[in-house]
Amino acid sequence: MSIKKKTTSQDTDRQPVPNFIRAIIEDDLATGKHTNIVTRFPPEPNGYLHIGHAKSICLNFGLALDFDGVCHLRFDDTDPSKEEDRYVQAIIEDVRWLGFDWHDKLFYASDYFEQLYEYALMLIKDGKAYVCDLSVDEIRQYRGTLTEGGKESPYRNRSVEENLELFEGMKAGLYPEGSRSLRAKIDMSSPNINMRDPVIYRIKNCTHHRTGDTWNIYPMYDYTHSISDALEMITHSLCTLEFENHRPLYNWFLEQLPVPSYPRQIEFARLNLSYTVMSKRLLLELVETGVVPSWDDPRMPTLAGMRRRGFPPAAIREFANRIGVSKADSLVDFDLLQFCVREELNKTTNRVMAVLDPIPLTIENYPEDKFEEVDADNNPEDPNATTRKLSFGRELFVEREDVSLNPAKGWFRLALGKEVRLKHAYYITLTRVDQDEDGNITRLYATYDPESRGGWSEDGRKVRGTIHWVSAKHAKPIKVKLYDHLFTIPDFSELKEGESHLDYLNPDSLVINTKALAEPSLLDAKPGDCFQFLRLGYFVADDHHTKEAPVFNRVVELRDSWAKKSRK
Ligand code: ATP
Ligand code: MG
Repeated sequence: MSIKKKTTSQDTDRQPVPNFIRAIIEDDLATGKHTNIVTRFPPEPNGYLHIGHAKSICLNFGLALDFDGVCHLRFDDTDPSKEEDRYVQAIIEDVRWLGFDWHDKLFYASDYFEQLYEYALMLIKDGKAYVCDLSVDEIRQYRGTLTEGGKESPYRNRSVEENLELFEGMKAGLYPEGSRSLRAKIDMSSPNINMRDPVIYRIKNCTHHRTGDTWNIYPMYDYTHSISDALEMITHSLCTLEFENHRPLYNWFLEQLPVPSYPRQIEFARLNLSYTVMSKRLLLELVETGVVPSWDDPRMPTLAGMRRRGFPPAAIREFANRIGVSKADSLVDFDLLQFCVREELNKTTNRVMAVLDPIPLTIENYPEDKFEEVDADNNPEDPNATTRKLSFGRELFVEREDVSLNPAKGWFRLALGKEVRLKHAYYITLTRVDQDEDGNITRLYATYDPESRGGWSEDGRKVRGTIHWVSAKHAKPIKVKLYDHLFTIPDFSELKEGESHLDYLNPDSLVINTKALAEPSLLDAKPGDCFQFLRLGYFVADDHHTKEAPVFNRVVELRDSWAKKSRK
């Protein structure tokens, strides 16, 4: 049969990178094992999604799109003690934001509680499950180790009738939490610890965010997951490598029960990203201990945080595409993600001017009361580029770090007697400066060449430096939040005994700048609008940005060749 392929609707120029999962699917379609591909993304609603989840989302939804299949969004909501509806809502928002659509295929493991319970009764009746009275600790002790087999529970050989009665009692809430569990009867001497009579139901006296107080028992992950996949007729169940040793158990349930399909579990390496932690437990800890004020803080590796930071969803999809899918664990450099963000924003953002550390500059030969408008292109990368008008006058502000009184060789920015280009405006030459008692420059004086309007001159003389500026009369103050990594070290896999990632918090992960000045058009930005501040980086209007109290977050620094060259 022919294999239909198409690119995802969002990224028409995306070239799917071949990987072993794709190869398996192509083969399954070619042999006719499957004619329709069904994948799923199964988050537990116990926290916000992070960039690691984005890898899984892009993989699962991406494969479904590429092979004309479907991808289900299924909440794995089997532990009511940690799960909340607000996390369900946040996850839905994040998957949508990332650009994916599950159509009507939104499911909850809790939808299957009744069916899962029926299946458990079947296992008991078949002598394949039993109620065990060992405590959680005792079960752990009996389980053995990687090198030693386990010991059978004294409750393992209860009769079917007794098991049914006790399991009914568990369901009815007759027993306290932890006093009993239902376990699959498999093999206590199996070399695979997961096969040593795993717990499949436990008692929990919690209110569930969907089923309320209906249930006093809740199914465990492995049991729920494999059956949910089978009930939804998932063809390829993709999960991270730590579940490789769970695959025999996943299959065991499928083999014992009359489920409607037999999905194939395939494992891939999880994403680890430098300078950050990824587990929801650790992210929750950062929020709860006040290291960051919220899950969507722009320094968090959560999708909500990255959204506020101004990372475009297309950049995250491209990142997922570039890192690929393999079976080898690795640490991906945060720079790659930033590279993808820069690439995307370079295509899509308007260039504007803001000065982060302003120093006044007077053009002494420019008429005092005169103002003129110069044309500024909005985005040179855009084939349909538009322009806007910028007010120019005698009094400007420029960037303090663009001035040097002792310029090194190769300095092309402001220095006494040197000519530089004011972007979009004129050539100017620095003639003198005011300094305070400590030698700090307090004001610059320059002359301009009226013949160089637009930033170029007919005589073709070379002016290598180009700097940004704002008009003193027109510029507006803005608040700028400069974000950096939350941690000072890239790799937490080698933490020493007793160390915690919290020992490596970056004290400068957020620096707030309140002296910045920007061209007035920036006040009209809407939250989420991104810009390139020329020569400084990409910035996004914060969620709390208003015209009256403008706030911009730095998305990523600029390191394109123009900035590098002109900043030498
Ligand atoms: P965490 O360890 O961060 O709490 P989790 O695996 O417990 O993550 P789930 O909500 O259970 O979180 O994950 C949903 C899906 O996302 C699973 O299929 C899981 O394998 C996948 N996933 C989670 N973290 C990563 C990661 N870092 N890289 C790739 N996939 C991931
Ligand atoms: Mg999990």
